[in-house]
Amino acid sequence: MKKVILVGCGAYMDSGYGCPGEWRCLKAAALGDGKFGEPVQVIAFVRCECPGRTIVSNVGMAIKLSGIKPDKIYITSCMAGAKPKCPYNDPKEIAEMLKEKFGVEVELGTHDYH
Ligand code: SF4
Repeated sequence: MKKVILVGCGAYMDSGYGCPGEWRCLKAAALGDGKFGEPVQVIAFVRCECPGRTIVSNVGMAIKLSGIKPDKIYITSCMAGAKPKCPYNDPKEIAEMLKEKFGVEVELGTHDYH
């Protein structure tokens, strides 16, 4: 089973209702729904913290401390498709930074649940 790291918007997780980090991404990963396409193992769920400068280093720590290099990194749907947009970062740019740093494919979005 493929191993993945999820990266979510911490600001949304702190203030949203009904999910933010609680189940939607985890359900989609477990069932292989949405962008996952097949059931996967989530080895870390990293929270972005405004203004987002720690994302890359925190993902690096998750990889280092878990001792597991992920097959893929996912920017969660609430971060990739945020409306209004993140005032600090473009999710595509974050994805490029992660891909360049860790040599791992990065997917924008996780699920289509509402
Ligand atoms: S920088 Fe943007 S994506 Fe990161 S926690 Fe803040 S609002 Fe969310």
